[in-house]
Amino acid sequence: MRRTVNAVMRRLGKAIARFEEPAVEKIAEQHHDDPFQVLIATMLSAQTRDPVTAAASARLFRVARTPAAVAALPVRRIETLIYPVSFYRTKAVHVRDACRQILERFGGRVPPTMNELLTLPGVGRKTANLVLILAHRSADNICVDTHVHRISNRLGWVRTRTPEETEHALYEAVPKRWWATVNLYLVTWGQNVCRPVYPVCGSCAIADLCPRIGVTRIGKGGV
Ligand code: SF4
Repeated sequence: MRRTVNAVMRRLGKAIARFEEPAVEKIAEQHHDDPFQVLIATMLSAQTRDPVTAAASARLFRVARTPAAVAALPVRRIETLIYPVSFYRTKAVHVRDACRQILERFGGRVPPTMNELLTLPGVGRKTANLVLILAHRSADNICVDTHVHRISNRLGWVRTRTPEETEHALYEAVPKRWWATVNLYLVTWGQNVCRPVYPVCGSCAIADLCPRIGVTRIGKGGV
C-alpha cells in the first residue's frame, strides 16, 4: 500500500502543475503565509467555490488585515464584505468572534497548536490542520476536506465514512513525507479530474494505480 501511495503522490505532484492552485494555498503564498489571513480564508472557504473565496478574502483584507482591525468591524460590514460565500451570516459572526478571542486570549496571534485552534469559534479540524500546515509549516498534520475524503476512499487507501475518520486513517496509510501535501494534491485533483460526480478516469494520470472504489459513473472527455 505505501509503495502505491508513494507512486500516486509522485505522479500527482507533477500532474497538478497544469491546474490552478486551490484558493487558500494561493492566499497563503500571496500573503507570505500570514497565519491570520490563512485562518480567515480557510474559514470563508467552507462549502464555497474557490473564486468566491478568493474574491471575498481580498475584499475583507483590503479593509482589515489584522485581528484587531477585523474585530473592530460591525458584523453587518463583515457580512457585506464576504458575501456571497456560503453561510456568510454565520461566518461573519465566527470571524468577528474568532478575532476577538485571538486578541483577548492569544495576544493577537493565531495560536500554533491544534487544541488551541479548536477553541476558536467556527474552527474545526480541517481549518486547524490547514493553518498548521500552511502558516505554521507543520509536517505533522494531514488536512482532510471533502475531496481528500472522497479520493482516499476511491483509491482504496482508507475505508471511512467521515472526513475525521479519514484523517486518522491516513496517518497510518500515508508515509509521513507526504502528510503536508496530501491536501494540496488531492484537492487539486478533486477539483479538476476526480470530481465528485463523473470523475474523468479516462484521462487520469493515476488511473492504473486506482481501483475506483465506489465509482459508478465516469465522465467523458479530457481535462
Ligand atoms: S482513476 Fe478515476 S476514480 Fe481513480 S483517481 Fe482517477 S479520476 Fe479518480
